[in-house]
Amino acid sequence: MTANIIDGKAIAGAIRADIAQKVKNMVEKGLHPPGLAVILVGDDPASQIYVRNKKNDCIKVGFYTEEHLLPAMTPEDELRKLILRLNQDPKIHGILLQLPLPKDLNEKAMLELISPEKDVDCFHPVNVGNLFLGIPRFLPCTPAGVMEMLKYEKVDLKGKKAVVVGRSNIVGKPMAMMLLSEHATVTICHSRTVNLPKITREADIVVVAIGKAKFLTAEMVSKGQIIIDVGQNRLDEKLVGDVDFDAVAQIVAAITPVPGGVGPMTRAMLLKNTMQAERLVRKG
Ligand code: NDP
Repeated sequence: MTANIIDGKAIAGAIRADIAQKVKNMVEKGLHPPGLAVILVGDDPASQIYVRNKKNDCIKVGFYTEEHLLPAMTPEDELRKLILRLNQDPKIHGILLQLPLPKDLNEKAMLELISPEKDVDCFHPVNVGNLFLGIPRFLPCTPAGVMEMLKYEKVDLKGKKAVVVGRSNIVGKPMAMMLLSEHATVTICHSRTVNLPKITREADIVVVAIGKAKFLTAEMVSKGQIIIDVGQNRLDEKLVGDVDFDAVAQIVAAITPVPGGVGPMTRAMLLKNTMQAERLVRKG
C-alpha cells in the first residue's frame, strides 16, 4: 500500500484564496490592504527566487508590497536606516529581511531592529520568547505551515509521539514547541542523537528538517506513521527532500512530497502572518 500524499500546494492554494477574499472585503470597506516589505541584500540567486516568489504571492492576494533590493556592499548603517523607516511606515505591516545577509552585515543585530509587531518571520527574540511562553503573536512560517497541514489532514496530536529531527532555531526548535502546545509527546533529535532509527520508528509523527537529501530511509520508519519532510536539497539538478520518498511512501500512512509539500505552506504562512500583523494594528 502506498501512503496518502499530503498536498501542500493545494492546501496553500486554499489558504491563499481565503486570504485574497478577506483582502477584497477589506478594500471594499475602504481599508488599506496588508503591506509586506521584502529586503534583499546582495545577489544570491536562490534568495532572488525566494524574494520574487514572495512578492508574487503578495500581489496575487491583493497585498501592498515593496521590494528593496540593495547591493551586496551596502553599509550596515544604510540597512539600519531602511529597517527603522519601514518600522514607522503605516502602509507596511510586515518586514521580511531575506537571509543570509552578506557576511559583513550583522544578521542578528539587523533582525533585532525589526519591530516585533512587524516581524512576520517570527525571528525577533521577543516573538521567539512569546512562542516559547505559549502566547505567540506570530508563528514561524515553516513550522506553522506543518501544523496547518496536520490540521487540514485532521490529525489529532493529543498524546501522539512526535519526533522532530533537526534542532535549528527556525525550524526544529519552534516545531517541537508547537507540537508540544498541541499536547504531543515530543522528542527532538540532532546530529549527536544515538540510535536515531529506533527513535523515528517508534514515533506516530516524524518531522525531518536537517538538509540531507533522502536521509530518512525505509529502515527508519514504520507502518501507520505520518512523515513531514521539511528538507529542500538539490540532487542531480532536482529538488529533493530529507526523506527517501519513494521507499518510505510504500510503508507509512501519510507523507508530504518535495516539491509541493512544506515549501508552499511556508509561503502561505507568511501571508497569514502579514494579515495577522495588520489586524493587530487595526484592532489595537
Ligand atoms: P540547519 O542546518 O540550521 O539545521 C540542521 C539540523 O539538522 C541541525 O540541528 C543538525 O544537528 C541536524 N542534523 C544534521 N545532520 C544530522 C544527522 N545526520 N542526524 C540528525 N540530525 C542531523 O537547517 P535548517 O533547519 O535551516 O533547515 C533544514 C532543512 O529544511 C534544509 O534542507 C532547508 O533547506 C529546509 N528548509 C525548508 C524550508 C521550507 O520552506 N520547506 C524552510 C526552512 C528550511 P546539530 O544541531 O547537532 O548540528
